[in-house]
Parts: sequence; C-alpha cells; structure tokens
Amino acid sequence: MSFKLCDVLVAVLISLLAFCAAPASAQTVRFFNGQTGLSDASRNIFAQDSDGFFYIGNKTGLYVSSGGEFTRIDRPDGTPFKDTAAIAGGANGSILIAADRELWLKTKTSLEKLSFQFDGRIALAADGMDFIILSGEGPARNGGIWRLYRHQRGELVFASLVKDHADSQVPSTNPLESEVLSAMASEAKSVWVGCGEALCRYRDGGVDTFDERRGVPHEIWRALAISPDGTLIARSVGKLVIIAANGGVHVEDIPYELPEYFRERPSEIFISRMTDGSLLMPGDGALVVRSSAGHWEDMDWPSGYSPQAISSAFIDREYGLWLDSPGRGPVRIAGFPFWQVFPHGNDAFPVRVSGVRHDAAGNFWIAAANGLFEYAASSSSHDGDHLLKHIELENISSLLRTGDGALWTAEKGKGLIRIDPATGQVRTLPSSEPVTGALILDSGGRIWVGTVSGLIRIDDPLRYASHLPTVFALQNRRINALCFDQFGRLLVLTDSVLFQQTAEENVFDPRVDLESFDIGNGSAITVGMSNDIWVLGSKGSVRKIFLPEDGSPVVSMLDNGPKDSDFTTIFRDSRGWIWLGGSHGLDVSTPNGWSHFDLTSGLISSRILSGSINEDDDGSLWFGTESGLNHLREPGSLPILPDLHTVFLSARLDNIDLLGKERFWPDGDRKLSFQFVAPTFTGNREIKYQYQLLGIDQEVVYLSKNFINYNNIKGEKIIFTVQARDILNYRSASSATLSVRSSGLKISSFKGILWWAFLSFLSVALLGAILYRRIKLSRQKNFEAAVRGRTRVMEEMQTQLLHQSRVDSLTGLFNRRSALDELDELVASISPNELIAVALIDIDHFKMINDTLGHQGGDYVLKQYGQCLRKFAGSTAICGRYGGEELIIVFMSVPSTEKLLDQVTKLHEHLRNPMVYGASEVVATCSIGLAVIIPGDTASTLIGRADRALYRGKKRGRNCIVVAD
Ligand code: GH3
Ligand code: MG
Ligand code: MG
Repeated sequence: MSFKLCDVLVAVLISLLAFCAAPASAQTVRFFNGQTGLSDASRNIFAQDSDGFFYIGNKTGLYVSSGGEFTRIDRPDGTPFKDTAAIAGGANGSILIAADRELWLKTKTSLEKLSFQFDGRIALAADGMDFIILSGEGPARNGGIWRLYRHQRGELVFASLVKDHADSQVPSTNPLESEVLSAMASEAKSVWVGCGEALCRYRDGGVDTFDERRGVPHEIWRALAISPDGTLIARSVGKLVIIAANGGVHVEDIPYELPEYFRERPSEIFISRMTDGSLLMPGDGALVVRSSAGHWEDMDWPSGYSPQAISSAFIDREYGLWLDSPGRGPVRIAGFPFWQVFPHGNDAFPVRVSGVRHDAAGNFWIAAANGLFEYAASSSSHDGDHLLKHIELENISSLLRTGDGALWTAEKGKGLIRIDPATGQVRTLPSSEPVTGALILDSGGRIWVGTVSGLIRIDDPLRYASHLPTVFALQNRRINALCFDQFGRLLVLTDSVLFQQTAEENVFDPRVDLESFDIGNGSAITVGMSNDIWVLGSKGSVRKIFLPEDGSPVVSMLDNGPKDSDFTTIFRDSRGWIWLGGSHGLDVSTPNGWSHFDLTSGLISSRILSGSINEDDDGSLWFGTESGLNHLREPGSLPILPDLHTVFLSARLDNIDLLGKERFWPDGDRKLSFQFVAPTFTGNREIKYQYQLLGIDQEVVYLSKNFINYNNIKGEKIIFTVQARDILNYRSASSATLSVRSSGLKISSFKGILWWAFLSFLSVALLGAILYRRIKLSRQKNFEAAVRGRTRVMEEMQTQLLHQSRVDSLTGLFNRRSALDELDELVASISPNELIAVALIDIDHFKMINDTLGHQGGDYVLKQYGQCLRKFAGSTAICGRYGGEELIIVFMSVPSTEKLLDQVTKLHEHLRNPMVYGASEVVATCSIGLAVIIPGDTASTLIGRADRALYRGKKRGRNCIVVAD
C-alpha cells in the first residue's frame, strides 16, 4: 500500500496567538549556517528571553538576534563565550549562560560573572524569576543542584536544594543528594529531577519521590518537560512517563529506536512540548511526535530539509521550531500548519468524507464516497501502514455507532450498511425507498433514516434484521437532513419545509417554509447551543431560525458572519461551535466571534465538500476537501475553549431522584448514590474522577470508576462535587456540583455553565447509546416517557436560562448576580460549626495595564485571572466576576482561617506569575481582601468586611492580602 499516514505533515502548533493573528503562511525553513559562527558543526543550543531576544550558543560563542541577523555577544573583556554548554532565558529579559566553566547572568542592563564553578555537564532551567542549575550529576557526584534567585536586597543567592551535610556522619536520606541526577526541569517553584532510577519533585524544601512503588519504572530519565498545568513528562531511552499534577502516573513504551547518536550522548535526549500538548523528541526518524491523544508518528519535514539525528530543539515565541542537527547547524521551521493532512491522489484514500468514528478498539473509521476506511489508532511497530482496511462501497454517507459497537452508514439511493468492526462483517439492509443519507441516532439507541419518500426508524438496531422497515412518517417527502434540537425533538429538513416533531413522536408539524428564503432546497441542518436552528440551502446560503414554542419562527441571516454564499456544509461540534464549509474555506463561529480558515492557514484545499465536516470521539475535527482530508487535531487549544463538562447521570437518595424536583426526604440513615460522566471524554481509558461529598469525604477522592455510593447519610443538605480528568490528554472537565437541601427546591450546578449543561445533556443522550449495555439503562420503549425525563431537566435549565446567563463570558466565572446568589444561599443555610469566607480580588493598576497593552491586553489579563481562579476553585469555592477587574471567591467550607490564608497566599502567588501577551510579558499583581464569616454576618456584611480589607490592602501599597478582623 503506497499511502502512508506517517507520510503526512504533522500538525503540531496550534496556539491562541497563531489562531487569532494573521493566518500563518506556508511552512518555511531557514538555515542559519550561512551566518558567521553559526556554521559550526558543533551542537547549537537555544534560548529566548522574556523580551523575545533569541540566543544560540555553540562552541564558537554566544549569538543573539531579535529576529534578523545574529551577532555575537562577548564577555566584557571582548573574549567570546567559547564552549557554550547551556543557556536559559528567564524573566525580565535575563539569560543565564554556562560557558567555559563559568556562569554568567545577562540582564537588560548588565552582564556579570557569577561566583560559581562547575566541571563537566551543566543543565539550566528558568523558573519564573529564578533559575535552577544542575551541575555534573548532582551532589552525589561532586556536582550540585541550586536555585539562583535575587534576594529582596538585590544580591544574587545560590540556594542548594540539598542541605549541606559535609560534616555529618549520618548518611543522607535525600535522594537528590544520594542519587545520580540525570535531568532536570522546573516550573512554578517545583523542580523535577531524574534521580537515580526514579523521578523526584522538590518543592518547598521537601522531596517527593516517584519510583516503582508509584508506578514509575526503573529507568534513567534523560529528558523532562513540564506542561502548563504542572504535568511532568519524562523520557528514558525507551519509555515515557507522564505524571499528572496530582500524582497520577501513566507509562508508555516509546515505539521507536533511538539513533546511535543518542546512545553515545544520552544526556542530549530532549522533549519539547508543543503548544497543542504534543511532544517532540528524538526517535529513529530524526524526530517523532506524540500527539496529546497519545498517537505516535514520525515528524515529516518541509521539502528541502531532511535532517539526521537532531540533538536539540526549541520552540520560540512565534511558534517557530528551532532544531540543531549535527553537521547542519541551526534551522528554524516556521508556519506549521494547524492541520494534519491526508494527501490526495491515491485510490486508497477517502474522498468526499462524510463520517469519522472510532471503534471499541480505538481504530478509526472514515466513511467516504469511495468506501469505508479503517485506520489503526497507533501502531506499536512503526513499519506498517496505518490503513487497516478499505471496504469498497459506493456513495455512502454518514457514520453512526450503535451501542453494540457496530457502525452504520447509508448507501445513498439504496439502503443501510452495518459493519461489525470486531469481526469485519459487512451487512447490507436494503430499503424499499432509496435512502438519502440523512441518518441519526436517538438517545434510546434507535436509528432514524431519511429516504426519498419519507422517514424510517429502526427501533432495535441491535437485533438482526435483513431489510429496513417501511416508511412510517412524512410519506412522499424527500428527507434531506435530520437533527435533534436541544429538547430532543427531531427536526426534519425536506426540500422546502422544516418539520418539527410534536409530543407525539410519529407526528411532525411543518414549521418553516423555506421557499420564502430563496436559499433553494434545504440541504443541511444543525442546532446551536441556544436552540438556534441553522439551515443550509442548496444555493449555498445559511439562515438562522428561532422556533418559539408557539408563534411564528424568527428567521435571520448570519450577523457579522462570513459573507460568502457558497456554503456546502454546516456542522456543530461538541463545543458548540458552528462550522461552515464552502468553496472559500471554513468559517467557524466561536464564543469569540467568527474565524476563517483557508489555504493560507494550512488547509490542503479551500474547497470543503458537502457533508464532510466531522467530529471524532476525541473531539478532533475532520474536514473533507477537494484535494484531501484535513484533520484538526486539537481545536481544544484554540481560543477560549469552553470547558469540557462533568455531568451527573444519576443522583439518588434512597429512592428519591435528586436530579428531579422532589427535594423532601424523611429523617434517618439513607443511601446516597451518584453516577457521573464527562461526555466528551469517550476516546480513551485514562479518565479519572475526583469527587467529594462535603461533610463526609475529608479529602477529595480520586478514582477511575464513575459512580459512588454512600451509606448512612444523615442531614438535610447534600453538596457533592465531581470533576473528570483526562490524564492522557492533559485536560480536565469543569466540575459539576449537586447541591440540594431537603426543604428547598433548588438544584444548582455551580460550575455547569448552562450552555454546557445543554451540550453535556445532548452528549449524554449520545453516550447513553454507547453505554447502553454497561450501565443497563432500561430500554425506553415509550418515547413520551423519555421526552418527559429529558424535559424535566431541560425545563429546569431553561427556567434558569430565561432568567439570565449565570456566567461572565470574558472570565468564564460566575457573574456578580450569580456569585451573590450563591453566597446568599450559603449564608442562609450555614450551620453553627461551619465556616465560609469571601475573598475580593482587585487587580492592581489595571488602568495602567489597559494603557500599555490596550483594552484587549487588559481583557487578556482578566481572562488569565479567570482561568487561574477556575483552576483554583476546585470543589470548595465559587468564583465570580464582581465588577470590572474585581473578582470574588466564595469559600464554601473553610477548615480554619490559617489554612484559608495558606490557600489564598498560594493563589496570590499564582496570580502574580508573569503571563505572556504577544511579545510582552505581563505581571499583573492584585490585592486581596479576605473575610471569614463571624456570627451575625449576612452576605452583605461579609462582603463589606472583605471590601474594607481590600481597601486597606490598596492603601498599604497593593500586591498583598489583608484579612478582615
Ligand atoms: P488599583 O485597583 O490598583 O487602585 O488601580 P486600578 O487602575 O486597577 O484602578 P481602577 O479600579 O480605578 O480601574 C479599573 C479599570 O479597569 C478601569 C476600567 O477601565 C478597567 N476595566 C474595567 N472593566 C474592564 C474590562 O472588562 N476590560 C478591560 N480591559 N478593562 C476594564
Ligand atoms: Mg477596581
Ligand atoms: Mg484595580
């Protein structure tokens, strides 16, 4: 087979900036070996300081550039830094240089030699304002490991990470001191070290060892990288280990042999973490990439560049990839496409793609006009094709997966095809009326099929059938598209009329006459997160329709949207984004507005084919174009990705459904049970849930199972929080909180943003089909009952929705009203031995930030604050935007004022971390007023006290925490 998946360009760099900024140009390779000094055959190493200056060090000297030519930086006495061994770019335009056995610190204004001696190998890392230095193989081998920081008085201090036991007779128990140190990385005051055959995390003077007992295999760890959420990634010659910030360990074999080069110089093994979470490291094909979804692939190269072993890599602020390969000198590759591309021009290539799905084995399937293709998710040996199977079928469209794992596709003009991925069995179910390709699965696991002359439904797709049932509704209508609205009602698009299912499931009301729109025949339909219906006509135009329960539909054109009227396809992904494809590329509507993609942004072709936008289970998107298939691996890294959400499948107290409206329960010991899920996380098995039942679980529980039972629950109040974490993909869903009191009627999902509650609900409906057997959902023969069940929750959500959106769109935090509501409720229901607290946070000199970075820059800072707070909040606090740049945290259960202050101090430190905005680094400090509830406090006196404390903090010079007395 000549088509190779590994022959494709690997999409590696997706980033907020690249996405928002001007479209990336085509990939360019620039060699620097023509420039004096850089042509040297020795190893080139890279660093960039916070001002954006770029440094290359090698045996001939240290070179700096701000984007153009490189010039050599010399010592003050005019001699070059020969033998540059390590460089690290730090904050405030500083760079630490290890060269000629000397250590130098360059700042914006000075270049000074530090009194520090080292011999042999040295490794440097920046950590905020500090640097970490590992010399030799650590203290056990006459080397050392230090933190270099600037004391408040201004002088530089080297603080050893191990105590000085020189005189001690007692052997040390600190592994950093007794073991050989092989690699180091550092971030957020944590230093990770390859320590003997284990990994150690040094933090706050303590060492945490990850060894075999914690699942880390005996290996010498050669390269470490830390992701922004604190996850450690480490590799040895043959293994990769990922340690989540909470200590969860994941181990993988690296399916590649290392080139000879690295066997000789194992300390030159590296890992570069790309902005999309994929990892770049040496492998037998010069570099290999492990996607954030865990797939390994060879890195492919722009034409004109075919590197040998690469000994160092670096990603600069403009997302250019710098590489050094022995003998080639430094190279920069810019303009990585966002997309993985499947090239066209081969028989064994899917054309006119209409569906993409994973099967139970993790392989993925593509339905295309020329058949069905099965690809291996990842191959462990890297020698074969990824294409496993091509089933030749003509004119198929759509791809569904039923609860038994079978895949279903429609053979246009004929019937349905059922494929069993496990056995490879393909079965054709002919239809008396030719099918059109409109196909949809409902939450009860039934398949609805559009034909040229009405609607068909397969009620039990799991049972063997030899042909399709007959048309039961909308006879003599050509069904072009099917879609469920947010209330679970089926929308049916025919040539000229949009029908909507009524309470009677087999009865459809004509709701919208398309003829007056002048968009041609209805060809595609999707429903947005606010139940807005998007209809695409055969003339290529889109209309947005709002269908009120009673009254006439409101129809509008795309506001501020793309102007083109040659759309061929429309799709809503699980984030709620609406994608439009046409002959000019792709347009996507996100909470941020519209974005456009075309050739210049890396699409293989700007002609997107009809029905060819798809989303896979892992949330990645597929775009079928005229020239091939584009895979957008991680739209998740695109701007303001709405959080993924954890939702409850069930919550019961004895026989009382806590998700329902009954909130009254009798006294006594009772059994409490929850089931939860993150619907978007279906692609891998590395999902963990962390949850806590307030007042019962002393600590957060962290387990793989998605249910929990508690016995002997007493009391009138239940607050349960759960959050799903996807270990493999470095992502976690937002938490869901169920808060119920037996006396009240309120159910509030603290963090479940309504839109996403809607979304999650839809996904649950889908998932329901998938988990069908496992969770033993009793089959809902009665559609009415199903709809009632669904609408019960929906009604509740909708009532809330009608009131207002509870979430501030800029920060993703609760808005002022909702935060205050929650506080009111907490204060009202607090018991005498409980403590709650309020923190008011005001960003310091925010006006100045606006003045220097512009309003957008200010918004960016606010967003970062929002993100930080959301992470921080976890299950024990509610965070909101109190006003412009003022934020509020409501602590739902405070163990003690001291512990709270500890917590808030940590948060304060986090908030002060420099953030990168464009080419600048911003430090936005804040002042915090903190008040713990005292007897007699109301919500407003509590806030009042926090506010006064905040005011005192501002007067005191800002950037501090003041506790109200
Ligand atoms: P300090 O709190 O340290 O006393 O100084 P400050 O500059 O932060 O003072 P102040 O509270 O008076 O200023 C707040 C500024 O925040 C004023 C307003 O223009 C700006 N602001 C409010 N809301 C937003 C917003 O949503 N985005 C941006 N970019 N700026 C905002
Ligand atoms: Mg203010
Ligand atoms: Mg302020």
